[in-house]
Amino acid sequence: MNTLFAANWKMHKTTAEARQTAAELKGLVSGKLKPGREVMILPPFTALAPVAGALGGAANFLLGAQNFYPQKQGAFTGEVSPGMLLDVGVSFALTGHSERRHVLGETDAVVGAKTAFGLESGLGVILCVGEKLDERKAGNLEAVLERQIRAGLAGVPKDIAPERLALAYEPVWAIGTGEVAGPKEILEAHAFVRRMLVEFFGASASEMRILYGGSVKPDNASEIIALDNVDGVLVGGASLKADEFSRIVLA
Ligand code: PEP
Repeated sequence: MNTLFAANWKMHKTTAEARQTAAELKGLVSGKLKPGREVMILPPFTALAPVAGALGGAANFLLGAQNFYPQKQGAFTGEVSPGMLLDVGVSFALTGHSERRHVLGETDAVVGAKTAFGLESGLGVILCVGEKLDERKAGNLEAVLERQIRAGLAGVPKDIAPERLALAYEPVWAIGTGEVAGPKEILEAHAFVRRMLVEFFGASASEMRILYGGSVKPDNASEIIALDNVDGVLVGGASLKADEFSRIVLA
């Protein structure tokens, strides 16, 4: 399985800025990527096509989307379907990102419906899970992860191709805060996620990627990537500048 370096640009960048950052990143990384690594850019919807153009099908670069609506088409004002994303070259999309859960109010059931529908429609899905600080302090880490994973995977076929589904462990208290989870916390959470994946999918769970996200930076990326059960990183703030993100990708 390839180690994945995913850049979540959230609600940042005009089309011109996105095109320029993607082109710059491609220039900095191409030819230098260690074998078995791949890079994914997840720009806002408006910049998907420009970023696809800037990447120009470069090897080991993927286009991702931050969100979608779990219907084919219809009267869903403001929403975008998986088919529309596939049409502009997207191969993966996030579900369950903490900002969608806690700012936009998505429930576990909505996240589950999106995960199942995205996969059924032909997208790869990165299902994000993670506990809030009060949940961790109350000793509920595993209970929260278990609830989110069970609901997130409820409609996913057991025989799904393992490369099409990734989990991202993103402790909410470490997202955009500069506070990174320590190696022990990451190891424990990722081992728990792996055990849950094995329970759901059996042997193919060992081929599913588990990403870490939460204040990943150039100076902590290589240590995090080296940990057991860490198969990539999902990066927000430090992915916005090509130079900074390239140092994570090449770490
Ligand atoms: C994220 O948005 O998924 C994220 C991990 O953000 P940051 O790297 O800024 O903490």
